[in-house]
Amino acid sequence: MNQGIKFYKTYEVKKISECHQSIGPKTLTPNSRLDRWSGIHNAISDWLLNEANDEVAIKVAEENFQFYDPLQRKIMTELFERFRSLVPKPLPQVNIDFYRQEIIKEIDGEDKGIYTSFQYQLEDEDNTEYIKLKAGVSDIEDIDRAIVAESKLEGETFLTAQLIHDDFDEIKEPENSKEIIDNYFSIIKEFETNRKKATPGLHCYMCSRPSRCGQYPVVDGQEVKSNNRGILISKSNLLNLESCERWTSWRAQYAIPKDIENQSFEAELGQKFHTYSQKMLEKNKDIFGDKEIERLKKMLVDEEEKFASQILKKYEELIQALDDEVEDQNELEIKLSEYGLGFSIVKEGLVSNSKMELRDDKVAVTFMGQADLVGRYKGKGLVIELKTGQESKDDLTEAELYALGAKLLLKEDEVYVFHIYTNKDGGKLKKRKFGESEFDSITKKFEDKAQRIANWNPNDSLSPSYNTGEWCSNCDYQTTCPEYR
Ligand code: SF4
Ligand code: SF4
Repeated sequence: MNQGIKFYKTYEVKKISECHQSIGPKTLTPNSRLDRWSGIHNAISDWLLNEANDEVAIKVAEENFQFYDPLQRKIMTELFERFRSLVPKPLPQVNIDFYRQEIIKEIDGEDKGIYTSFQYQLEDEDNTEYIKLKAGVSDIEDIDRAIVAESKLEGETFLTAQLIHDDFDEIKEPENSKEIIDNYFSIIKEFETNRKKATPGLHCYMCSRPSRCGQYPVVDGQEVKSNNRGILISKSNLLNLESCERWTSWRAQYAIPKDIENQSFEAELGQKFHTYSQKMLEKNKDIFGDKEIERLKKMLVDEEEKFASQILKKYEELIQALDDEVEDQNELEIKLSEYGLGFSIVKEGLVSNSKMELRDDKVAVTFMGQADLVGRYKGKGLVIELKTGQESKDDLTEAELYALGAKLLLKEDEVYVFHIYTNKDGGKLKKRKFGESEFDSITKKFEDKAQRIANWNPNDSLSPSYNTGEWCSNCDYQTTCPEYR
């Protein structure tokens, strides 16, 4: 009945809402999260349909994990076990399929659709339950809830099995589902009628085409193809690379879940300070004006006192440090905040296809970060990084990443990078300037990093080398890593 209608997955529309260019030719980017999800889903399906005794059914189902490396196998085995305790047998009639809940709307005289899918159906005489499997850290989105709310029939129940959070619950319907759905259809309309340029942001970390969209240019201009492996190295992963490749690779290549997710007061303060400072400084033509501190105080009225006083103090230190170091205030211009900058390097390395077969081929490694502030200084490119911690040797690598990214994307011949520290020692600005000769040495340095990353076997999370040391105490994998004792 719905043949010929263009349907979008909810996930796709969310990506479109973040960046129109995220839909387009990709690289062959191994997606360990998705691979794990598929492996667990296949095991669950086999187990649900197998009428043998449970021990046998589990053993057969776990054969789905046999081609994965021991660490991925262990994670999948644990998540499969969680599903079995959340949804224990015996169960009513089980069906496995791709159950779609859809909403269709006419846009400019043409029907368009959005759907969310469910993997398992449990049926008895009075009720039919549909289960959505979630095996990563994310929870179900509001748009999925809204579609369920607007499309479900009497006697139908929709549930999510969120394995990481040990949660099996009925999907809660939002109060404003119609509004949420309308908003998603307007995103589709905008995408189809008025396609926008790349819009970088935190969502770039989840994108499968950073080496192809132009935001993170390839240093030697090589064309990246769909059958090249793509991998994205965030700034924090880049900074860990020199300490321990395993730590970086487990986050960047293999999506190994972190042991613990915690947030200290300092980290929260740092994030808030960044947000307020960016709001104050972006496109501000009167950075050093008399009334600026009063303006910040007004912004902070609803902020918790424990943060507000610290943010104010740090901001005053930041402005003082800028004032001390900037020779001509009129030559300082801040145009953007939280802006994705970086570049890609293509190297020969290991590529895997969907059947997990390896071959030698090209690997496009994209290094990227979110620069705190971007603008111009003395007619040259400018990147400003705000630091609430101590100076570190990593700050040079960070500066190099942004400087080369700004040169390639913004076509700057020279780039200033200011690190502004506001910590227990007060405010301090460290100025670096990069030109043609520095860009050459930065490229060489990153080519070496890219080559090491290209050599990682995408099918084996234990292939990258490990290196224990003092950095292990900050590592996300102190429990998972067998070498950390
Ligand atoms: S990498 Fe970022 S800017 Fe490029 S297409 Fe993806 S989301 Fe858009
Ligand atoms: S605990 Fe140490 S050796 Fe293990 S992954 Fe982390 S940094 Fe590397």
